[in-house]
Amino acid sequence: MRPRMISLYSGARAARRCACRRAITFDCQSGSGRARPWLVPMKVRMTFTTFSLHERLRRAIVAAGYQHPTPIQAAAIPPALAGRDILGTAQTGTGKTAAFALPLLQRLLTGPREARHTRALVLTPTRELAIQVHDAINQLGLHTNLRAATIFGGVGMAAQERALRGGVEILVACPGRLLDHADRGNLDFRQLSCLVLDEADRMLDMGFLPAVRRIISLLPRERQTMLFSATFAPELHSFVRETLRDPARIDIGLAAPAETVAHMLYPVPHHLKTALLLEVLRGTATDSVLVFTRTKHRANRVSEQLTRAGFQAGVLHANKSQNQREAALTAFRAGATRVLVATDIAARGIDVTTISHVINYDIPDCADAYIHRIGRTGRAERSGEAITFVTTDDRDILRDIERALGEKIATHYVEAFDYTKPAPAHDEFHRDPLPDGRRPARQSAPPRRQSPVRQVAPAQHSAPVARQNDRPRPARSGPRARRAADRSAARGY
Ligand code: AMP
Repeated sequence: MRPRMISLYSGARAARRCACRRAITFDCQSGSGRARPWLVPMKVRMTFTTFSLHERLRRAIVAAGYQHPTPIQAAAIPPALAGRDILGTAQTGTGKTAAFALPLLQRLLTGPREARHTRALVLTPTRELAIQVHDAINQLGLHTNLRAATIFGGVGMAAQERALRGGVEILVACPGRLLDHADRGNLDFRQLSCLVLDEADRMLDMGFLPAVRRIISLLPRERQTMLFSATFAPELHSFVRETLRDPARIDIGLAAPAETVAHMLYPVPHHLKTALLLEVLRGTATDSVLVFTRTKHRANRVSEQLTRAGFQAGVLHANKSQNQREAALTAFRAGATRVLVATDIAARGIDVTTISHVINYDIPDCADAYIHRIGRTGRAERSGEAITFVTTDDRDILRDIERALGEKIATHYVEAFDYTKPAPAHDEFHRDPLPDGRRPARQSAPPRRQSPVRQVAPAQHSAPVARQNDRPRPARSGPRARRAADRSAARGY
């Protein structure tokens, strides 16, 4: 079955197309008065009242401060309210959560209700995203008495079991832990009528598709399914064909980053990255800044260096406990820490609207990762800047990123910065590139501070040979493998 296309276009293309087509158009001025090129001049002022949403949802929308639907909401909500399956390609930070949450809540509010049954399931690849989706559902479902819960690994089963037994109508879950509950007989999907698959590309990357398929086999065939993904790898195509029925295809700028983000390259030698970071932070007017490093060790080191230099900096990576991760995010959201140094675990699902700058201290591994990282800024129609430090080793990946963006990124130099400073005798972060241009894996753990009491032979500190970029491995089948996959999801990078 061919998916039906509902396309909205962005930027100049949008303006041209909308001039002659159906005018789904939006206010072109942000609150700050700055032009937002992805929004085209308003001809018909669309508001949420257009959607005939339940009055309880309309009140929550007002309370959330949403005035106009974003393009993904304008395109997805009507067919979703009509019960159609949805296949959405959405830019990051474009309001896609509300695009599926509002129709989902409307369906549950108006549909038949039996206590203690799960009626909607949202599958997400990571705990962070699960928490965020859950928060959005709670915000938009504020005036409903629908109950939602999150289910993910890395925390105890008991509280989740209690919540499930208490009767939760909306589950927001990571696949591995959800299957654990299914194996224990904790789930009852007989009344389920709505399934959302969020960030399906990421689930594919993390090896979750077999688990997702198994979960889907437990659900009623008669249901509405909404699938969202930033990118559509060929492997997803057959999954989409199996899972969706005659979906409305919503295509908001294929895997393009938000156009509210300005991209900049800062060439720098490896050994001067931290010095340049400090210079940029001191010399730039910023709100919150998210700094991405390639590894957990580098994230720790950079945040320590920033703290020593007087910045309020937090750190977020997969070696931190769930409590530490939540504390770091809460402090960052509240503005208590201005800079958060993170690995790619933060590249998806983190929604902090005050992030004005994303700084790629290390260039990401691939163009998709770049798009996800920079999607943390320029959110909710604000403007943002994406600064990428590049070294001479980064040429290949930079070419991929520019190809994905469809433009060359402008290069910037900081005038007062001394780029000629020689490298110290030992640069702990530097890794010579392999002859084929790839980065070598880190072979051994960085030297640790040795305890004055007990000295350990250096060989015992050797890290296991690093997995390729520390990425979670694809899930194998079986409960142990699933638990490992869920832990990996929770661990991230
Ligand atoms: P999402 O892409 O779903 O992660 O949403 C990104 C951000 O946009 C979140 O902070 C939402 O609260 C916000 N948002 C979603 N819809 C709207 C809207 N219609 N108007 C203003 N902000 C919105």
